[in-house]
Amino acid sequence: MFNDRELDRLAANKDHIYNRLKSARDERGRWGRECTRLHDELDWAYKVQNQIYESNESAWLQHKYFMDECSRNITAYHAESDRAHYNMTQAFQWSQSAWDSGDKSGAKSYSDEGKMYQAEMRSAKEQAAYWVRQSQDAKYRFNNNSNKHDMEQAKANTKRIKAEFDEANIHLKSVKVEASRLEQEFETAKSAFLARMEWLKAENKREQDKWKEVQCESCKEKFKIHADWSNPPRLCKKCKERPEYDYKVRFNPETGKNDIFFGGKRKADGYGHGHAVVDGGSGDLHYLRDTSNPVSPFTRGESVIKDSGKKI
Ligand SMILES: [Zn+2]
Repeated sequence: MFNDRELDRLAANKDHIYNRLKSARDERGRWGRECTRLHDELDWAYKVQNQIYESNESAWLQHKYFMDECSRNITAYHAESDRAHYNMTQAFQWSQSAWDSGDKSGAKSYSDEGKMYQAEMRSAKEQAAYWVRQSQDAKYRFNNNSNKHDMEQAKANTKRIKAEFDEANIHLKSVKVEASRLEQEFETAKSAFLARMEWLKAENKREQDKWKEVQCESCKEKFKIHADWSNPPRLCKKCKERPEYDYKVRFNPETGKNDIFFGGKRKADGYGHGHAVVDGGSGDLHYLRDTSNPVSPFTRGESVIKDSGKKI
């Protein structure tokens, strides 16, 4: 539109910034999607971790409940064993006393009773031992619970994703800053380009306004002249090119004579032309004849304005 180097430079600058802006926008979109993806992944990892936590909680409650049960049973069987031991000891003592006092049947009866308590004591001890083993097994199972390992893995996984998310977020923030900086830079470059364009349009209009229409002094046709021209023409181009406004000079270098022909038909020295003779050395005008009607050649002599009669 305009042949202007500054405008070209501003356009190239604007386009260059736009290309950078475009890739910054792409980059922003890419990191935005990456952040969303990692955020979803992190949400999922937290859910998994939570599920494992809840399952561990219930496993621990179950374990605790069972351990309490074991503990109650052990205490109860120990108490039963102690009681049976006490009763057994007493029965055997009484059996001894009966034996010592000669009561054989009494001694036998107390001895049987003692044996019964002894069996009771053994059975209670076995039960207590059984529940001790149960609690030890449960403790072992609980301590080697695979859920515990799962929880550690889940925590490590969450931590890893969180770190990735944080890093992606830092990238996203930085490309966001870069993109908005380039948006601003692009707006500035675009404004500069448009301002230059407006200025050139105005300048172009000012230049157009310098052309003024005038009337040709000869044919009265209208034509345009520029305000900055120091010597504007009074005749239109067509009139200027007509032979009557043209002239032809013939110079003789030996005599210094200048013959000037003008106003002839179709050419300066055509029919009915005017003629001037000028001394090339002094600049004196020796002969001047105006144009004459070419169809009446006798008017030619009447058209002579000056004739010094001097031959050069
Ligand atoms: Zn004209």
